[in-house]
Amino acid sequence: MKTINHTQSVHAGREDLRRLGVHALPVDLSTTYPLSDVAGGTASLDALVSGQASADNPVYARLFNPTVARWEQSMAVAEGAEAAVAFSSGMAALTACILALQDRGRHVVAVRPIYGTSDHLLASGLLGNEISWTDADAVAAAIRPDTALVLIETPANPTLSLVDIEAVVAQAGEVPVMVDSTFATPILQTPLAQGAAMVMHSATKFLGGHGDVIAGVIACSEQWAARLRQIRVATGALLHPWAAYLLHRSMPTLKLRVERAQSVAIELAGRLSEHPHVSRVHFPGLPGQDPKSLLGRQMRGPGSVLAFEVDAGYETAAAVVNAVQLMTPAVSLGSVDSLIQHPAALTHRVMSEEDRSGCGIQQNLLRISVGLEEPEDLWQDIEQALSKAFSQALSYKAA
Ligand SMILES: *Cc1c(COP(=O)(O)O)cnc(C)c1O
Repeated sequence: MKTINHTQSVHAGREDLRRLGVHALPVDLSTTYPLSDVAGGTASLDALVSGQASADNPVYARLFNPTVARWEQSMAVAEGAEAAVAFSSGMAALTACILALQDRGRHVVAVRPIYGTSDHLLASGLLGNEISWTDADAVAAAIRPDTALVLIETPANPTLSLVDIEAVVAQAGEVPVMVDSTFATPILQTPLAQGAAMVMHSATKFLGGHGDVIAGVIACSEQWAARLRQIRVATGALLHPWAAYLLHRSMPTLKLRVERAQSVAIELAGRLSEHPHVSRVHFPGLPGQDPKSLLGRQMRGPGSVLAFEVDAGYETAAAVVNAVQLMTPAVSLGSVDSLIQHPAALTHRVMSEEDRSGCGIQQNLLRISVGLEEPEDLWQDIEQALSKAFSQALSYKAA
């Protein structure tokens, strides 16, 4: 597997800092820019509205922001892409992608499970699209003449199932495949190398990494990027420069954070699978959970999100979340600290019960985004929460 040069992604977007005589990334908060003359302004405006990556003058901050562009360069290098386009959220990125492809058609093919709101956006047809849900092995059969996009998420949220990107790309033929690679980050997986046309991230998660930024990004060819920028200019789903600054500042520690959280997650997944109150653990690194041998071929490691089913129903699963003391009971993931949540009740609540259970999101399933704490401390917290929840369940039964 080709590894992307982490050093280069850390330095990308900073090339001119020495010449500028500064070390920290400059933040440009301008909403408008002084024009040296009107004709020059017109030329820059035309270039940016048509989707060019930059112009002599940014003209207006909805068209271009240099702080955002710096982080985009770093993300492009991290994904091995020609370009990256940043958005105000992961959902804004997905929306822009669907809008950008509408001249190809309105039909989208997607493999469940995916992030709950992505599922909702596609299933509701809010953007005027039609959707076919299919298995990863049946993508070819779902393609229609008006199919504009194939969307997959791997590892998938919240079941951590892996999808073979190369196999889906082969089935999609001419249709562009976008991979939501949020759970993997560019440290563990670079889908463009597997033939995907686009890779998206909810940068809110590992890329931001500290729970203080909402952002999205798509890395792709310059041709797709130009189309996405046109949509961004027209719809205004912009990333704020402060957010871009924080994201760029998080890039140098991405590898450290991802690898450390992963090693803690491997430890916890192993211990959870031995626990008497846990009936099943979902984690690609456990024996039998990577039937297509994608670890090592497509992914450099299993990541740091895991899910597990308690050997009981909704009440007890919810009680586990309510009983944690060290971890934070909260949605989202990829932060420096550990978060635990109940997918059926929270992140995937927008789906129907039937669709949820159809793709493995049961009422007794919990998801943990493992952070950077000591594994022993996290394990103590999980153990005490499980034992509290199950003793409550026993006392209800006795009463
Ligand atoms: C959070 C998330 C999204 C949505 O991103 P936002 O930044 O919340 O809009 C999309 N996909 C995955 C896998 C996510 O975890």
